Amino acid sequence: MTTVVCTVAGSDPSGGAGIQADLKTFSALGAYGCAVLTALTAQSTQGVTGVHPVPASFVREQVETLVADVDLAATKVGMLGTAEVAREVADLCREGALPRAVLDPVMVSTAGSRLLDDDAVDAVRTMLPHVDVVTPNLPEAAVLLGLDPTDQARDLETMHEHARRLRELGARRVLLKGGHLDVGPGTGPATCVDLWADEHGVTPVRAAWVRTRDTHGTGCTLSSAVAALVPQRPGWLAAVGEAKQWLTGALAHGSDLGVGQGPGPVHH
Ligand code: PLP
Repeated sequence: MTTVVCTVAGSDPSGGAGIQADLKTFSALGAYGCAVLTALTAQSTQGVTGVHPVPASFVREQVETLVADVDLAATKVGMLGTAEVAREVADLCREGALPRAVLDPVMVSTAGSRLLDDDAVDAVRTMLPHVDVVTPNLPEAAVLLGLDPTDQARDLETMHEHARRLRELGARRVLLKGGHLDVGPGTGPATCVDLWADEHGVTPVRAAWVRTRDTHGTGCTLSSAVAALVPQRPGWLAAVGEAKQWLTGALAHGSDLGVGQGPGPVHH
């Protein structure tokens, strides 16, 4: 049986992030990819110059038309853009239309462009109990907890606390990504620690730290790798561990691509 996985996310014409990254990741990991568009961006490796949201009712129409025909094994939810789209996708999750949903709560691009309106954060927060996993980076976790993004966790102990507090907010499973911790300027080996929090507690998920500027699409790629793998592996933690190892390879090979003048994409 083919594993069919759907991304509900925005478009990145430069191909490093958004649905383009998600579809490449699904293919690389043995899943057939479907895509529901929530927003168009005008974007290169040098940044985002514009965002054109899809009307919420048309996001619903795309999902309803698709799931009436195609059995989805898992879903990745990425950029939502507006509060209206976030509320509509939250409703679709609540209604069970998007199985095994992995939510990457995209807020701001690495280069600083807003990819989620301020008034949409509440809608994303109310989605937490209705998705299977949420995969925030440290600033996104702070915002979901009602803090300023600059109050992100800066050590492993605070990461543990933020992961636990996200569960208390209603998140069923949390993958709190440690890539925004400062590992210092050294050139020696370092480890990137993410935290997995579920009903059994908090488990560290470790991989080598890759020193590269070519990180465009890292978050999109990890969440879509988890969605692609979970139907094909014995459980969430097995899928998460393998997705992180695979992403580490994709990061290590990003600079081989030489795409664009800005921070380049990971190598899907
Ligand atoms: N564009 C789209 C459509 C995205 O979904 C995202 C992140 O999720 C980005 C851009 C930003 O990617 P990055 O911060 O990795 O550059």
